[in-house]
Amino acid sequence: MTAGGMRSLWPGATIGVLGGGQLGRMMALAARRMGYRVVVLDPSPRCPTAQVADGVVVGALDDLEAARHLAKQVDVITLDTEHVPADVLDELARIVPVRPGAGVLRTIQDRLTQKQFLDGLGMPQATWAPVGSAGELDAALALVGRPAILKVRRAGYDGKGQARVEPAPETEGASGRWQPGPETEGASGRWQPGPETEGASGRWQPGVDAVEALAKLRGEPAVAEALVRFTREISVVLARGLGGEIQIYPIAENVHRRHVLHTTRAPAPMPETQRARAEGIAVTIAEALDHVGVLAVEMFELPDGQLLVNELAPRTHNSGHYTYGACVTSQFEQHVRAVCGLPLGDPRAMSGAVMLNLIGDLWQAGPPAWCEVLARPEARLHLYGKDAPAPGRKMGHVLLLDDDTDRALRTAEQVLAALERPVAAS
Ligand code: AMP
Repeated sequence: MTAGGMRSLWPGATIGVLGGGQLGRMMALAARRMGYRVVVLDPSPRCPTAQVADGVVVGALDDLEAARHLAKQVDVITLDTEHVPADVLDELARIVPVRPGAGVLRTIQDRLTQKQFLDGLGMPQATWAPVGSAGELDAALALVGRPAILKVRRAGYDGKGQARVEPAPETEGASGRWQPGPETEGASGRWQPGPETEGASGRWQPGVDAVEALAKLRGEPAVAEALVRFTREISVVLARGLGGEIQIYPIAENVHRRHVLHTTRAPAPMPETQRARAEGIAVTIAEALDHVGVLAVEMFELPDGQLLVNELAPRTHNSGHYTYGACVTSQFEQHVRAVCGLPLGDPRAMSGAVMLNLIGDLWQAGPPAWCEVLARPEARLHLYGKDAPAPGRKMGHVLLLDDDTDRALRTAEQVLAALERPVAAS
């Protein structure tokens, strides 16, 4: 029994995973090492998780019959992605425990609901407004200001389903100007209409670019967010067990390129008080969600130290990949432990670490020359078994174990530069 009185699933039990990407793959590797069986539901029988699983059910994530077929052969179900319809999870929960549950997904998988939930908890966020239709764009931008980012409410990730709205050229410098918002002190800012704008038209008009940005989202309901002038991005990755206990990993500092995670450094250098503040935010969210499993909370850090919550992920997270190699218990093993009702493992880092994502663009001239990575004693290569490298697609990562994380960040760029060179030149 767990602390919460629920039944633990011991090694030998079977874990079902909805979605067969790299997160499911690394979780399956951890689960199988511990003696669990793993069966995955995915449209592709050769998906990254299926390659290392005991079984695969081929089907779409919204295919209820296929999902039921999976549920009947497993002892617990978990997720590799939050983009599984919550209604499907409700149905599966009649057959087998689903962790995290449908309620967590319902809150998180729609950006609007997620933001309302965070507002309800009093969590700091960038100024935001819903854009359900083109008619709401004007009012939304008047509220959040420009520049702004439009994000589709559902199914967006890695910058997909996002469009940036630039400052309106016809008003910039003349009738209005970009001003820091008092609440964020120079970070997210808000649009201040100038006197001419107010006097002439009575209200501020969005420029054509805003309409174009919205068109890029192809009519999908969206939210508008103020563009945040952050000093850095961080994430708190934690695990919450079946009995409510929580273990928190060293905080990750993340750099994105073209909206995709580029590097993670951990532990993020930061004063103790700031670390406690970030952890407090993540713990409050995990408890309010009644989450079970790994949860990642992405945050923006502002010049004055304020933290804004950017996004929640109710699963293992790319910024936690460093834990697989650097920490006593990886986020993948920790997720298995949480959803199976086992005691959580020790999240402590045994070494400083930098993770470098390997994106499909690197494969443009054929497979990269791995020598530069493999010849380095501090480097570990992880590839996800994806056979179709595409620009922007996450194909693998390199983990650099080095207590001097400034040096490791420099090493990561050297490794990347070497991998970018055509094979013949390296
Ligand atoms: P998301 O998918 O919302 O996490 O966005 C991906 C990345 O885009 C973030 O990690 C940031 O680097 C950037 N981004 C997203 N929203 C904002 C924002 N409101 N202000 C500034 N940058 C943002």
